[in-house]
Amino acid sequence: MDDRGRPEDPAPALSRENLAGQNPSGQDPARQAPPRQDLDAAGRGPVDNAAAALELVARAAGPFLAGLQDRPVHPPDRDRLLDELAGPLPEDGDGALVAVAELLRVGTAAATATAGPRYFGYVVGGATPAAQAGDWVVSLLDQPTGLWPTSPLAAKAETVVLGWLKDLLGFPASHGGVLTPSATFANLTGLACARHWWAARHGVDVAADGLAGLPRMPVLSSGYAHASCRKALQVLGCGRDGLRLVAEADGSLDVDRLDRELADSGPAVLIGTAGEVDAGRYDPLDELADLAERHGAWLHVDGAFGLFAAASPRTRGLVRGVERADSVAADCHKWLNTPYESGFALVRDRSALARAFGSWNAAYLPEPDDERISYNTLGPESSRRARALPLWAALRAYGRAGHRALVERHLGLARRLGELVEAADDLELLSPVTLFVVCFRYRPAGMADPAGLDALNRSLGAALAEDGRVHAGTTSHRGVVALRPAIVNWRTRPEDVELLVAVVRELGARVRSALEG
Ligand SMILES: *Cc1c(COP(=O)(O)O)cnc(C)c1O
Repeated sequence: MDDRGRPEDPAPALSRENLAGQNPSGQDPARQAPPRQDLDAAGRGPVDNAAAALELVARAAGPFLAGLQDRPVHPPDRDRLLDELAGPLPEDGDGALVAVAELLRVGTAAATATAGPRYFGYVVGGATPAAQAGDWVVSLLDQPTGLWPTSPLAAKAETVVLGWLKDLLGFPASHGGVLTPSATFANLTGLACARHWWAARHGVDVAADGLAGLPRMPVLSSGYAHASCRKALQVLGCGRDGLRLVAEADGSLDVDRLDRELADSGPAVLIGTAGEVDAGRYDPLDELADLAERHGAWLHVDGAFGLFAAASPRTRGLVRGVERADSVAADCHKWLNTPYESGFALVRDRSALARAFGSWNAAYLPEPDDERISYNTLGPESSRRARALPLWAALRAYGRAGHRALVERHLGLARRLGELVEAADDLELLSPVTLFVVCFRYRPAGMADPAGLDALNRSLGAALAEDGRVHAGTTSHRGVVALRPAIVNWRTRPEDVELLVAVVRELGARVRSALEG
């Protein structure tokens, strides 16, 4: 490592020159006549060399994954590499082996190291080994996953995985569920069920007849609701501006006012948030469930990452009552560290999904069946990939105890980061650390001007991104520009958290003198 913590010798990238070592045929396809298995080049179309192409990926895996530990988060040479992806559509292709080797050469060098231990922006996990290899199995088996008959394997795995997730997170087995690409789609799924329920209260089958003629659906939440809930309401024809915030000045739920508004609103939809992105705060889900029961409202909970607090007894109390919600959205690709796209939706009344999504009929589709489930009748997609397989592999590999340990490891690292921030006289902790998000800012002694501190921290965020050793991300927390690292990657070690603090202080001092000088 050089003095900026950067590796001197980055993981060897694939190039045409060293491809010979990566090529099972022992030849460099860029220079030699193509090996027999690569006769797909020059306009002949695919030939049977998938195993050799996959082998290239497997050989690149070791160096790439090992390099994640030390490489900078943002590759210094990225823009030039990205240009190498461009160019006209080839008339005669290069063949599978050359194309895949090129993709690996550019990809392994140009990828942002979000899967590495020091990417603290947003809420980004990195796939665990079992989950990542399970994802390769998805590609290998190439199953069309939507209808039971096309892949009983994928459908059965989805049923098993949903059962395991319910068990891990404390939901009764009777809940219905479906895997989705993301929490955005899971919010869409849950809110589509809510909309169907609400329209039925007005005597309308919204799946068949739409919203025309109905009043606007009342949707209420605290200030924590995620932008993807608004997007879901927008797509569902309910309007993103229809979301009414019933919140205190700090964004937390105003329970008494919500109680009064529900008394007048008629059937309504409540959105609760389990883990908001700024500081990891939670709505009081038990109280929301009480209100929903008392007023006959639908409760949808967005627990994209925060639902996984249920995996540890230390944080389980944060989601108390979530099993009483009518619909719940979450994401395994955040805190559970599975590959993108691993969202899921759960519903208390298991027939709600089929009512909202299953009403399209076509003569070639199978009859509904409780055992042989065609999951595309329970969600917004039709054809889909077998996204249950990486989840199955992860849950089988690490089990209840392993996932509890994963969650507690991040809680511990975030607490440690919070302590380091509090111990530093030039850093200010802005919100108590309840989960894995640590919201703080650079605040040198003697500096109190709010606008100056905002400008300083904004520049610091840009300097961190430019520097590349760590990525923290900035946010506006209660009107104040702040750094907001989130620690959710199984690869992150205490020394990565310590490096974050050191880099923030080093660059903070430099940015301050630059701004003042
Ligand atoms: C990330 C997030 C979402 C959206 O999840 P995607 O998987 O990115 O679609 C929704 N709600 C909350 C609270 C989130 O943190």
